[in-house]
Amino acid sequence: MEGLEHITAAGSYRRGKETVGDIDILATASRPEEIVAAFVKMPQVEEVLARGPTKASVIVRETVQVDLRIVEHKSYGTVLQYFTGSKEHNVRLRQLALDRGYSLSEYSLTRLADGKDLFFEREEELYEALGLAYIPPELREDAGEVEAALQRRLPKLVEIGDLRGDLHVHSDWSDGRSTIQEMALAAKLLGYEYIAFCDHSPSVGIAGGLAPEKLEKKIESIAAANESLEGITVLSGTEVDIKADGKLDYPDDLLAKVDVVVASVHMGQQQTEREITGRLISAIENEFVDIIGHPTGRIINQREAYEFDMQAVLEAAARTGTAMEINAYPSRLDLNDVNSRAAKEMGVKMCINSDAHEPLQLGVMKYGINVARRAWLEKADLLNTLGLQELLRALKK
Ligand SMILES: [Zn+2]
Ligand SMILES: [Zn+2]
Repeated sequence: MEGLEHITAAGSYRRGKETVGDIDILATASRPEEIVAAFVKMPQVEEVLARGPTKASVIVRETVQVDLRIVEHKSYGTVLQYFTGSKEHNVRLRQLALDRGYSLSEYSLTRLADGKDLFFEREEELYEALGLAYIPPELREDAGEVEAALQRRLPKLVEIGDLRGDLHVHSDWSDGRSTIQEMALAAKLLGYEYIAFCDHSPSVGIAGGLAPEKLEKKIESIAAANESLEGITVLSGTEVDIKADGKLDYPDDLLAKVDVVVASVHMGQQQTEREITGRLISAIENEFVDIIGHPTGRIINQREAYEFDMQAVLEAAARTGTAMEINAYPSRLDLNDVNSRAAKEMGVKMCINSDAHEPLQLGVMKYGINVARRAWLEKADLLNTLGLQELLRALKK
């Protein structure tokens, strides 16, 4: 838009949190009134709560409040830092500023000795003035990031472009809505090198789980698809159900025939902590299981995680080289940020998968990346940042 310079959504949205409340948008503009006028007239706006020369609050999607603030160019970095939060992170920064003889406000850093205000157009300049390396928004939770920034040992966070493939998608062989070819071509457009088709196993009957003979057929059809496809490799796989008794839904000799085995709990989620922990660990210990899918079973705002001993499960995963999934589906996002960080610290490999059931859903990976970044994950912590040959070597066989 004309006259609009910077514009960014701040707050928990910018920090990549799994759910967000109000959305704060910050901008700089040469003629703020015109930007505010255009903002309140956007088609998504259902109600205008307040409006002034440099700001406005509106409601979209019935309940979501969006606040726009147009701020001065010279203090954009300071204001953006302030409105990005978190509150806890900002408390730490204000204390650090005081320790160094400054007071930090929403708009400026003020030198206490002479009252001089320092303005920063870029956040990087503010962090630098406080003696800190630039802290990416996803880390701003007062969870050790200030100490790490002081010591210049912040992680180099994984980025979406680091992903080389997706190891958990469904096709129309089970409950997916698209063919192997359609999904593969969409994955190729995303720049991936490989995509693994992990359709359901027989116990998950409502999701079209494949009988063993059908899985054998699917393996043949994956091989045929690789003959005709160029620029992307399709991998055979399964999302094998971890049954209520802890056994897997296919025999080992069949699991040995596919490239990627994701094992997931879908049923019996009401079992005791001991039972579910036992199920997960026995799946992890299976020599053919590569990844535990959506490891906690929670559905955001809908269903709690089932009860299990996370520590024991992560220990087993570390010991056996089994990866834990960050399921990027927006209502799942498990393992979450806190557990993924614990997993990393224990040496567990992670894998971000879309669990897509149609081509458009392959795009949810960005939400998984948010979780990974909030968990301090780097490229080397993830299985699907490996190139195809390295990946095939890393998978259990
Ligand atoms: Zn599943
Ligand atoms: Zn799935």
